[in-house]
Formats: sequence, structure tokens, C-alpha cells
Amino acid sequence: MNEKENLHIETQLIRNQLERTSHQEHSVPLYLTSSYVFDSAEHMRAAFQEEVEHSIYSRYSNPNSSEFIAKVAQMEGAEDGFAFASGMAAVFNTLATFLNAGDHLISARSIFGSTHSLFQNYFPKWNIEHSYFDVKNLEQIEGLIKENTKLIYAETPTNPGVDLIDLELLGQIAKKHNILLIIDNCFATPYLQQPIKYGADLVIHSATKLMDGQGRVLGGITVGSSELIRELYLFSRNTGPAISPFNAWILSKSLETLSIRVEKQCENALKLAERLSAHQAIEFVKYPFLKSHPQYDIAKKQMKLGGTIIAFELKGGLSSGKRFIDAIQLCSRSANLGDTRTIVTHPASTTHAKLSEEQQKAVGITPGLIRISVGLEHIDDIAKDLTRALDA
Ligand SMILES: *Cc1c(COP(=O)(O)O)cnc(C)c1O
Repeated sequence: MNEKENLHIETQLIRNQLERTSHQEHSVPLYLTSSYVFDSAEHMRAAFQEEVEHSIYSRYSNPNSSEFIAKVAQMEGAEDGFAFASGMAAVFNTLATFLNAGDHLISARSIFGSTHSLFQNYFPKWNIEHSYFDVKNLEQIEGLIKENTKLIYAETPTNPGVDLIDLELLGQIAKKHNILLIIDNCFATPYLQQPIKYGADLVIHSATKLMDGQGRVLGGITVGSSELIRELYLFSRNTGPAISPFNAWILSKSLETLSIRVEKQCENALKLAERLSAHQAIEFVKYPFLKSHPQYDIAKKQMKLGGTIIAFELKGGLSSGKRFIDAIQLCSRSANLGDTRTIVTHPASTTHAKLSEEQQKAVGITPGLIRISVGLEHIDDIAKDLTRALDA
């Protein structure tokens, strides 16, 4: 990597790149190779002993993934990282590296569906227990800590309720009890929020969302200290979840435009949240940088901008939620998020339909809750489509 010091992060994301080859290419090429060759028996021995830096096999490392990792680690203030084929590969391999049979983990109740499913349906078979805390009641956490508690896990802002978790407070609790703190920072992106500053040990991303931002590839990444990443690397090079060179190449290029995309999407989101707040069909709007958000102060403390996700509650519950979705014309009906295209989701009938109404309520989902992932279209066109659907 050709690292440039003392430049703004926007510049670094563009200018920090792999050394040029003899072709003097301007844009970093794609290294589609499964394996690598050596100059001599001695060179090979030294590479396998890690005395010299040299790629061995793309399940371990690849130039394109190394470039992608270096950029994300730098943004997050981390020493190193490992990149995965998907966000869930990052979540699973990270947790599997650090949890042993008999361990206990504490997690926010509002977490990504597949992560919840791991805790609930699969970890018990390895005798790993979990306890959930309510994001509105962080005082609960210390009471949940047991002898065998190994780590605390959370996402902020939460999905789809757009609640916030005070990272500083979580960091203090984890430190006091000497427990690992792992944050899934996917909703905020490292451009808006860096959990390591507040004491997180590891930060996970689904790069599928805002990092790519254009709905093209899956990817995941975990960053942290060299020591922890070393353990994660040794585990993951055996379990085989490495990102493909092609996806890493796409993602590293996507990061060149992360700041400008996220900034504009946040600007659109704030304008949209303000406009929606005034609509009579809406009970309330939740957006971190709206003064009416109950945790506005926490948002201002830990986020650079309010993020790209808005939640709002429709008057009239489930049926009006589905009618609203049907009336959308421009925006996409999809369960994905973090795309240039604005996406509208009705969690109660889709992503969280498997939960009982009581379980939905516990994670902040009400029957009329709508989640908007705000894109890069012109704000007036997004607002017009949503207002038309609301009027309907
Ligand atoms: C999407 C998502 C994941 C999973 O990522 P994939 O790339 O879909 O595997 C994990 N956490 C959060 C918060 C997500 O939004």
C-alpha cells in the first residue's frame, strides 16, 4: 500500500492505493488469482514463516482485499482487519473466533435478523448463551453480566426502529468489566461514526450496504487491534469466508465516493424527515438529527450526520402500512438498504414478520412502522413519491 499521511480522509480514500505495477496503471487493477508464486525455496520458506510479506493464497489474503481492508481500518481508527464474503460471514467468524463453549454474550435486542437467528437458533448447540438488553435501558446491562460473560454486541442506530445506543457508555461498561465490545457499524458507516474512539474492540460492517452503496456486491469486514485481528485471521483462513478479489476491488473503488454519497444521502434524509414530520397521515418520524428524536443529544455526540435511514409510524397500523407500500411508484419496494436508490420497507409484514407482535414491539416495530433508506435521487422527487403514497 502506498499510504499518504496527514491528508483528509476523503483524499486518503482516493489516493491510498496499491503500488503501481510496471504498466503504470492509474486505476488499481483486479488481481483475479487464487495463488501466488515464489522466487526460491528460501523465499517460500520465509513467506510461510511470515518473515516476509508475500501473498500465499487468496483464502488468506489478496492485494485487492488488502487495499479494501487498509481503507476501512484507517477510517475506523483500527490497526488491521479481515474482509469477508458478506456481512454475516464477518459477524459469524468474528463471534466464533472469540467465543468458546460455555461463554455468555450480551447483545442489544434490536439487531440484524440473521445475527439474532445465530444467537437464538445456532449458538445454543455450541453451548453459548445470550442475554438481550433493551436499547432504551442501558442501565440493565451491568445486571446481566455474569462470570462467563465474554462480550457485548450492539448496532447503532438500530434497525428498523432508528434508536440510538450511547457508545461512550457501552465502552465504559465493557472496559470496567474487561469484556470485549463489538459494534456492527453498518448503519452509520465509518464516515459518520467510529466506535473504536469510544472503546469498541472490534467493528463489523456489512459492506453490502452503504460501503458499496450501489447494490452490486456482497461483502463484509471486521477491523480492530492487530492482536485481535491476528486471531480472527488465523481462524478465518481455515474456515474460508474470505471476500472474492472482484468484490474487494469493487468495494475499494466504492469507498472513493463514500463521503460524497453518504453526505448527500444524509442531507436528503434530513430534508425528507422534516417534510414527513408535517404530514397528517404520520404519527411520528424518527431520524437521529431531528430535534424531536428522544436521543438527539446522543446522535449529535457520536455521529457526524444523522445517517440515511428514517423510520416513521403511519396512522392506521398494518393495513395502512401495506396500502402505503402499494402506492409507491418511484422508490423501490425492497428489504435492502444503503443504496443510491431510495428503498421503502414495511418491517411488520416483511423482514420481521416471523416475530410475534410482542417480540416486534420489543425491538421497536409497530404495525404501521415504515423504514426508508434514503438514496441519491433529487429530494423533491423522493418527497413527491412518498407524499403521494401517504395521501393515498
Ligand atoms: C445487512 C446487514 C448485515 C448482514 O450483511 P450481509 O452482507 O447481508 O451478509 C449485518 N448487519 C447489519 C446491520 C446489516 O444491515
